[in-house]
Amino acid sequence: MTVKRGRHFLLTPGPTNVPERVLQAMNRQAIDISGDEFPRLARSCLDDLKHVFRTESEVFIYAANGHGAWEAAICNVFSPGDRVLIPISGNFAESWGAMAEALGLEVEYLPGDWRHAADPAQVEARLAEDKAHEIKAVLLVQTDTASTVTSDVQAVRRAIDAAGHPALYLVDAIASMGTVELRMDDWQIDVVVSASQKALMGPPGLSFTGASAKALKAAESARLPRRYWDWCLRLDPQEYRWFCGTGPEHLIFALREALDMLFEEGLEGAFRRHARLAEAVRRAIAHWAKAGGVAFNAVVPAERANSVTTVLVPEAFDSAALRVFCRETFDVSLGGGLGKLQGKAFRIGHMGDINEPFMLGALASVEATLQLMGIPYEKGGVTAAIDYLADTAGKAERAA
Ligand SMILES: *Cc1c(COP(=O)(O)O)cnc(C)c1O
Repeated sequence: MTVKRGRHFLLTPGPTNVPERVLQAMNRQAIDISGDEFPRLARSCLDDLKHVFRTESEVFIYAANGHGAWEAAICNVFSPGDRVLIPISGNFAESWGAMAEALGLEVEYLPGDWRHAADPAQVEARLAEDKAHEIKAVLLVQTDTASTVTSDVQAVRRAIDAAGHPALYLVDAIASMGTVELRMDDWQIDVVVSASQKALMGPPGLSFTGASAKALKAAESARLPRRYWDWCLRLDPQEYRWFCGTGPEHLIFALREALDMLFEEGLEGAFRRHARLAEAVRRAIAHWAKAGGVAFNAVVPAERANSVTTVLVPEAFDSAALRVFCRETFDVSLGGGLGKLQGKAFRIGHMGDINEPFMLGALASVEATLQLMGIPYEKGGVTAAIDYLADTAGKAERAA
């Protein structure tokens, strides 16, 4: 038996590393749900999430994973047979669509190749054709965690407006919130879906839906059956209703600490940190790719996500074996290829509680894994990442 020492590096794109402070916050006894403390804590989280979502409307918290919030978003605003439009950006857009179909919606997909972001022009053209306004909503995934393309949420909003269409606008920000700008009110998004365990630094188990006034209005007449997910019931002033039953106390303790950490850094600070560390990862991959072996899945550099990067491996190699190898040999967990990229790609998560040494350690382990597996790559990717990090380190401070 091999005994492992030191830290395991978790670079799966969910769940991510849970900060020590967040773990500690959960290490306490359960409390009286109807005492003073729990309702106060829960209320502070509900209110502070609005700041993260950039909304003055409502945000709801579910004791559920992202799939739960996906379902909540759908069943609160739609009725059986409603038609929705989903641009295909990767596996997560398809899965949200499959869920909508299972719940009784008519789902129309805008085709995509999983290597490019959603095309706003395609959205506008389809909506402009829909003179009868049969399409009730557009569902967009901001960062599709399988393809790791980030779509332009604001541009899709403009496309809906340009078509003069009244469709609701629902956005999945599960793998993007905290890494890149998302302004729910300014961009007139009706429903934003997110979850605790990606860039928001919580353990898995909580998810969120932000709902605009227009979405809350739609909920009043939406006829898909729902109870646990129901926004209208959760708006009750009695705190027992906020969670449709017992609040997930320890997850709320964790959320409170994670939100405090996020606010200490500032949302803008978190975006900058993610952008810079993501660019270091991209510099390494771009360098490895010079040998013609590994490659970026996302074709357009500006569409590459700041939270996770999918790397394609050559046909002759199995990316699942690479992942196992990297985990068992170097104690670094990577994400696998999802859906049609299964066995063909691996994913490097770079979101949440990450810093330079964490990412450099991970990149060095990936480079060593490429070498050990005999996958063609250009040596020196880690050096390219170091150069970029050194070049951009403390720039603001040095300029001062
Ligand atoms: C992780 C993820 C989901 C699913 O979340 P779960 O918590 O695994 O249910 C949905 N959408 C995106 C974009 C994700 O990254």
